[in-house]
Amino acid sequence: MDISIPSLLRIKPNALYKIGKYLRKENFSKIALFFGTGMKEMLGESILISLDSSEISILYEDVIGDSEVESVFRTALSLPHATEAIVAVGGGQVIDYAKYVAFIAQLPIVSIPTVISNDGFSSPTVSLYANGKRRSLKAKIPYGVIIDTNIIKASPKKFTLSGIGDLVSKVTAIYDWKLSFRNTREPVNDFAVLVSNSSFENLIGYGNKDIDDVEFLRVVCGVLVMSGVAMEVCGSSRPASGSEHLISHAYDKLARQPSLHGLQVGVATCAIAWLQKNYKLDVVKSVLEETGFVDYVRQNPLDKEDFIAAIRYAPNIKENYYTILSEKGAIDRLVEFVDADPYFGQFLK
Ligand SMILES: [Zn+2]
Repeated sequence: MDISIPSLLRIKPNALYKIGKYLRKENFSKIALFFGTGMKEMLGESILISLDSSEISILYEDVIGDSEVESVFRTALSLPHATEAIVAVGGGQVIDYAKYVAFIAQLPIVSIPTVISNDGFSSPTVSLYANGKRRSLKAKIPYGVIIDTNIIKASPKKFTLSGIGDLVSKVTAIYDWKLSFRNTREPVNDFAVLVSNSSFENLIGYGNKDIDDVEFLRVVCGVLVMSGVAMEVCGSSRPASGSEHLISHAYDKLARQPSLHGLQVGVATCAIAWLQKNYKLDVVKSVLEETGFVDYVRQNPLDKEDFIAAIRYAPNIKENYYTILSEKGAIDRLVEFVDADPYFGQFLK
């Protein structure tokens, strides 16, 4: 089994100004640099100064504004031979794009997320468009993750809350994985479960869950990184993605106005945890309440009709993927709950 984990990991305030120093320490001196849309204007100068002061040359630079797999291949073929590492700065789009460039070119990638709306910046998979369809493709877990918690703190709250929604889903995902083992003998990787559970406990145990507190943000980022590591350890997305993710993907497909991935996932996690009679449901609810997730979604609810349609469509998202929704009568029970439960009702309009 070939497992890699991020070797370069820096999560702290002002980390952005030390990018050059961090890369130099890993012996990278010639890089390809990718910015998400608008990122160069926002952070380019600080990054370039930091790279320059550590004598790191940029052999290739690009601003990424699409997610087409064809463009990714074109970029990978355009990289100069001497490129030693790829560095991606921005949101999910540029990071996924650059992760796949790195995978094709067999180069290490350092991801520098400027928002933490999901666990993609440290996961071994990417989401790209191929032939007009969004597809999830296997890549490699990033060699490095650098997160400036001051930048995350300054980013719009909905993104961080989305990341928190993506995190609580580990609870229902792991339940579904074990359920699949009992019903289909799909093997469960105990170490991946341990990584996922214990990192989630760090989050639960943190006293003041204030997303304006850089120390709490450091914990959140750490749990998101560990979610990527858990996926790498077992070679599948099982420790991070169960039926709550199927509902979110179905909602993306069917809803007239999809919301952010992690916001949808967090809401679906509450519903699925109820269906599973998951003993961690109360913990999930308290994390969502304490961080401000519940307040935010109450003000920006999902569409009830579309959400119910997404529940019904969810099992079609992934073939041969056993979850609680595969059980007889589960979907009807869940739809009834979503339709009538007053607590859950606050997430929908
Ligand atoms: Zn997710």
